Amino acid sequence: MAEILVLVDHADGAVKKVTLELLTKARELGTPAAVFIGSGYDEAKDKLAEYGAAKVYVAQDPELTGYVVAPKAELLAKLIAEAQPAAVLVPATAEGKEVAGRLAIKTDSGVITDAGDLRLDGDRLVAEQSIFGGSSIVHSAVTTGTPIITMRPNSTPPAAAPAAAERVEVSVELSDAAKLAKVVNRVVVPKGDRPELTEAAVVISGGRGVGSAENFSVIEALADQLGAAVGASRAAVDSGWYPHQSQVGQTGKTVSPQLYIAAGISGAIQHRAGMQTSKTIVAVNKDPEAPIFELVDYGVVGDLFKVIPQLTEEIAKR
Ligand code: FAD
Repeated sequence: MAEILVLVDHADGAVKKVTLELLTKARELGTPAAVFIGSGYDEAKDKLAEYGAAKVYVAQDPELTGYVVAPKAELLAKLIAEAQPAAVLVPATAEGKEVAGRLAIKTDSGVITDAGDLRLDGDRLVAEQSIFGGSSIVHSAVTTGTPIITMRPNSTPPAAAPAAAERVEVSVELSDAAKLAKVVNRVVVPKGDRPELTEAAVVISGGRGVGSAENFSVIEALADQLGAAVGASRAAVDSGWYPHQSQVGQTGKTVSPQLYIAAGISGAIQHRAGMQTSKTIVAVNKDPEAPIFELVDYGVVGDLFKVIPQLTEEIAKR
């Protein structure tokens, strides 16, 4: 079966859930081969084997990690030339999309971003994308070069299927262009106990209706009962009530959790673009005409400051 390269998303060897999803999907399409770039491989290897990586291309050269995305694209381009994979799957994160775009240019290949699903139609890999704020679903295929596809986190439930994870060392002579940008400093944003927004099974987001930074404690209290991540609309972020990295939507993050709760969010198309593929959507809004009610599975017309604390209390009792 043809090899499908999966770029591993990890933090010093702690493999992100999206990688396990991509390996799971790659197993349906061919033989998954993970590409691990950076430090911490020893920590990552068992997870990659558990989720079906038949092979792992490992590049631990500090030169590859001291720079931003360009070296990753160069290494993947070299692997495409040598291994001739049937496709390259990359997480649809900010970094993943940049790697994918650069890789497509380098290899003269087509790129499809934000795929929600992938399937084989004969020999052809067909991607499903939700476009125009979710108003249409398109199916597309790359017709030139090696298909390079970024997949949305939470698109495929990860399933274990142990494989050999044969280790293959790889390196690349970086071009001068790849060395033009370098990471000079990293500020680690303190992480609470809540899951990462794009990986969480449950997300609860607050909007302008929350009214202030302090009032977000109401949202956080429910999130903590549910083990959820906290998101925010752009209106809430622009008001300085919640950090930018929590913004959900067209110019924020795309989430696709099992459960998305929108509190005090009207449901503008730019917000929908980041959350409408969530499996179950619940909204709490005091305006019965709010557009968010057009796409919810469950809607509560009411004041979030009454509804959310009641919900939190009810869940806490169970
Ligand atoms: P509003 O639209 O003001 O809605 C607030 C809602 O809260 C109202 O429906 C109101 O009835 C309800 N409410 C008020 N008080 C209460 C209460 N006590 N209890 C219950 N309900 C209450 N937006 C994003 O979110 N993400 C993006 O990534 C994004 N990108 C954008 C990109 C572009 C190019 C543009 C032009 C816009 C973008 N926006 C984005 C902005 C978007 O158009 C909306 O302005 C924004 O989503 C509105 O946020 P909101 O729903 O919180 O606020």
